[in-house]
Parts: sequence; structure tokens; C-alpha cells
Amino acid sequence: MKGNKTLGAVLNPVRTKEDLLFEDSLRPRSFEEFVGQDTVLSNLRIFIKAARKRDEHLDHVLLYGPPGLGKTSLAFLIAKEMGVGIKPTSGPVIERTGDLSAILSNLQAKETLFLDEIHRLHPAVEEILYSAMEDFKLDIVIGQGPGARSHKLQLKKFTLIGATTRAGRITPPLRGRFGIIHRLDYYDVPELEKIIKRSAAILKVDVDKNGAYQIALRSRGTPRVANRLLRRVRDYADVIGEGKITQHEATKALDMMEVDILGLDEVDRKILMTIIENFGGGPVGISTIAAAIDEEKETIESIYEPFLMRIGFLERTTRGRKITQKAYKHLGFSPSPLPQGKLFKK
Ligand code: ADP
Repeated sequence: MKGNKTLGAVLNPVRTKEDLLFEDSLRPRSFEEFVGQDTVLSNLRIFIKAARKRDEHLDHVLLYGPPGLGKTSLAFLIAKEMGVGIKPTSGPVIERTGDLSAILSNLQAKETLFLDEIHRLHPAVEEILYSAMEDFKLDIVIGQGPGARSHKLQLKKFTLIGATTRAGRITPPLRGRFGIIHRLDYYDVPELEKIIKRSAAILKVDVDKNGAYQIALRSRGTPRVANRLLRRVRDYADVIGEGKITQHEATKALDMMEVDILGLDEVDRKILMTIIENFGGGPVGISTIAAAIDEEKETIESIYEPFLMRIGFLERTTRGRKITQKAYKHLGFSPSPLPQGKLFKK
């Protein structure tokens, strides 16, 4: 497909360098500004209130869900609502046990450690988290060889907030040490419109209701994608239009970028087309799909599959993934393929 490169980049919910430049300024500054995820927020409010009332640290929190849905933003807000500091780091960055020990032993009482991509912690590093999370104790070994001695170091009572796109990859001993576990879900169109309007005000972009609606529709239920599309449409409106984003500018810009009306990108399409054309619409195993389209199984499971299931295009059965009638229709197949895989294209 023509323009695939642009399409993939603009709709991929994984954080890019360009996002990093804008994300800090666009992050919600309070729970009130954090749009959606009502159940998660009302639960967190209660736990935070209770911890503050007792003047204790908040229990460890695990946030999971696809990229770009607000896990990092929420972690920062939790620390803010608790009135404590936050130290951010991520699983793959911590290479040695000593690195984590140093971070943990420097935490103040009630302070928050935010560990993004916690499922990617090195097993040896993860192991020292167990007693740190449970008893606030750190096992440290002093010296080497036969003279080496093990010491227990008492830590201050801190809060660990872990974030992951792959809850299934968290080992049971680690998962069991989190007292508060929440899944962030995709956002609906009115919620995304609200996020777009808020971001537009911060970026001083003039967008009207219908313009915001068009962007929201194609944002794959993901605030990060919504903010990115807003910036791209703004460029278009600045250069071609008169700076204001109305339905006309938004639709024209998004069509020009070949952004699908449902926010599907080229990988989503490749997954769906491969299942249809090579596997008769499924069911087919995820590893087979990954091999057929030359993508990581992990990427498909954490980014693409949840979205395709959410919009009702893919079904998970005991025998693998299956395409739905809704997906056939969107891709322009009518009627759905014959059992032997022959297609009638509209
Ligand atoms: P994650 O950590 O899940 O990948 P982030 O917290 O980095 O996601 O969110 C990406 C961007 O999307 C943030 O900069 C923020 O501007 C925006 N965002 C995410 N969730 C919300 C929300 N609920 N309300 C407003 N903006 C949000």
C-alpha cells in the first residue's frame, strides 16, 4: 500500500522521540484532568485517601494495558496525589542487581519508584525486588568468594508502581506482591475528543468540535495517537488551510495521511489479510501469524491483537485467532470467503 511508512508511524501507539518532546506538556496535571478510566480512578482515590489518613505509604500498584493509554501519566498523578516524589526508571535499563539496590536504598519513606516495562526486568534483578516489596529489606552481599557475607539492609517504606503492556509476562511471585492491580482500557470517542480539546488548548491549536471528532474517530482508542494526529493535522491546517481545524481540514489531512477511518494501520491490515488469504480466515495460532508477516509475536500480542479484538475484528478461540464478519466487511470482502479460502472481492 502506498504511504505505508507514514501510516504506520503515525498510528503506532509506541512512544517515539517526537512524542517525548510533547508528552510532558500534555500530561494531565491532576486526577480531575485525567480523562476516562473512571473505575480505576475512583478505586485509586480511595486507596490514596486511606493511606494518607493513616500517614502510610501506598500499597504497590501494577498498571497494565496497551501502550499510550496513560500508565506513565497515572503513575505520576498517584505520586502527586500522595504528596510524594517519584523516581522513574524502566525494566530494561536496570542491568545489574547493584543498580536496583542503589535506587531502592536511596528512596525516602512513602516515595514512589516507577518501573516501566516491568516485565522486561532481568530475572536476577527481579528477585531482589521480592523482599524489597514485601518486607522492605534488601539482601546485599559484601565481599567475594568464601569470605562473602550476606547482610539485610532495612529500606524505607516506599511504593513501587509497575507498568506493563504484558500482564501475562509478569511472574506470579512478582504479581503477588502488588496490592493494587489495574488494567487501563481503550478510550471511547467522546473521551478522546475531550483529550484532543485539552491538548489543543495547551498547544494553542484552534480546533472545533467536528474537527476534534474526526481526529478522535481515527485515534485507535489511544490518547498518545490522538495527540500525535492532532499535531499532524495542525501542520496541515497551518500550511494548506488557515490554521483552524474544522471537519474539512481534519478529514482532508487524515485522508491525505491515509489514516483509516477506524485507525487501522498497515500491520493491522497485514495481520487481517494474512489470516484471510493464507489461513482461510482462521483459526490460526499467533506464532504462525507472526512468522507469516515477519513481526514479533510479542508486538502482535501487546499492540495489535488487543485493538483488533476491541473493535470486534478478531476473535480468540481455543484453536487460535479468527477473523469476524465485521472485519471482512471493512476490508471490502463480500460475502465472506468460502471455507477453502477462495475470495470474492467487492
Ligand atoms: P503509557 O505510559 O500507557 O504508554 P502515557 O501515560 O505516556 O501512556 O500517555 C501518553 C500521552 O497520552 C500522555 O502524554 C498524555 O498526554 C496522554 N494521555 C494518556 N492518558 C490520558 C488521559 N486519561 N487523559 C488525558 N491525556 C492522557
